[in-house]
Amino acid sequence: MPSNSTMTKIVWQHSQLLPEETMDFLRGIAVDCCKTKNYVYGKYSGVKNLNRLTPVYNILNEMRYCGLREQLNLPSVYYELAIADAVADIKRSWGTVKNKIGERITANENLSADDRIYLRTVLKMNSIYSSVLNHQDYELPRNAAGLEIDVKRLNNLLCRLTRKYLVQPSTDHISSFRISPNGYSYKDGAIRIVCRIPRKRITIPLKDDRIFDRQIQLQIKQNYVMLAVPVEVRVKQHRDYTNTVYIYIGSKDMFTLSNGTIYGERLEELVNPETERLEKKNQERYKMYAIYEQNAEDGNQQKTEIIQTNNLGRLKYDRQKEKERLRTTTFINAEINRMLRVEKPSKIVITRPVTKSRTKIYSKSANRRMARSFRGYIRERLAYKCKVNAVELVEISSKGTGWICAECGAEGKRQGTEFICEGCGQQTTIALNSARNIQQKYLTK
Ligand SMILES: [Zn+2]
Repeated sequence: MPSNSTMTKIVWQHSQLLPEETMDFLRGIAVDCCKTKNYVYGKYSGVKNLNRLTPVYNILNEMRYCGLREQLNLPSVYYELAIADAVADIKRSWGTVKNKIGERITANENLSADDRIYLRTVLKMNSIYSSVLNHQDYELPRNAAGLEIDVKRLNNLLCRLTRKYLVQPSTDHISSFRISPNGYSYKDGAIRIVCRIPRKRITIPLKDDRIFDRQIQLQIKQNYVMLAVPVEVRVKQHRDYTNTVYIYIGSKDMFTLSNGTIYGERLEELVNPETERLEKKNQERYKMYAIYEQNAEDGNQQKTEIIQTNNLGRLKYDRQKEKERLRTTTFINAEINRMLRVEKPSKIVITRPVTKSRTKIYSKSANRRMARSFRGYIRERLAYKCKVNAVELVEISSKGTGWICAECGAEGKRQGTEFICEGCGQQTTIALNSARNIQQKYLTK
């Protein structure tokens, strides 16, 4: 990596507490951006528009004159970014479709090598792929000349698979929106953003006086906003970081290294009391809600009002939840930093996340859900910190790293968190055994 390379980092800026009037305005903009995006998804995510997504200007231009903006009375600075974001989402979903079809092409045993060359070529060329899907004439791509193929059959296959995997994106995300640089300015420690009345601006006082000149995302909280600003930061080069580190990412302890060192010890205990408390709290809330609904049905308005103000308020609940989450994420980040400082890696090897079967099955237990959400967070933070510190992060398949004894290669037994091998008598933890397997697998590949 060159020493002057940079990467994008998100910095956060908080507003002061805002009056309800301002919050209402912000929520209204977010709702309208959401409507705009859903309109774009509905209109442009089908096969007819596949070839019109780039450059985004075409769609932007059509959207300028379709009347939606006037109908919503949404200022252009919000409207056009919402459109651009929606088109980017549509392109991403086409990317997913192509990946899935690519997998199917690889797995389909009824296809010849020539068939596969043709199909992959078409998938790579949007204009041809689009013609195939829309049953329009097109010129065969040059590297498809001379192939022994039944074009009609292959095109039918492409159409069928596309129909199967193409889904129209949709969003109900009404707690954030983006604003372009020409939509805001600063004055007296406040950011002033465009509002629905021409030449007027809404003032949002900030907690610090940093100013920026790029697209900003506004995240709407209960009575304030958080601004997410992407900024370029320089990647830190560490000359003394030369080691290769093999890490098993677990749920009991966060990281177990193949050298036996543990970082984020007993992370689970930090997460779990919280999930149990939340689960109990949720049960109480459901019960209250049932009583509330019953009273509402019976027309007992006084009682429903009492319940609503005393028991169903989200505010305290959300604040408590946020506080506990912050405690866990702070611990996670501190431990990742400590690992980097102590181990001085130039390369870190982990396993790819396991997705059991294609369709994800979601467990009902809040416990599992919480552990899973933090696992995603841990991976994300590790990847990010590796980037910032110019550490190479390698992901290998976890296949064969769980059940095999790292000492002798026999299949071992797992009891709770312990790993026992009857072949050689090794007794260790699943985490350490896996970490050592990751190391061996990486070194012998
Ligand atoms: Zn063994």
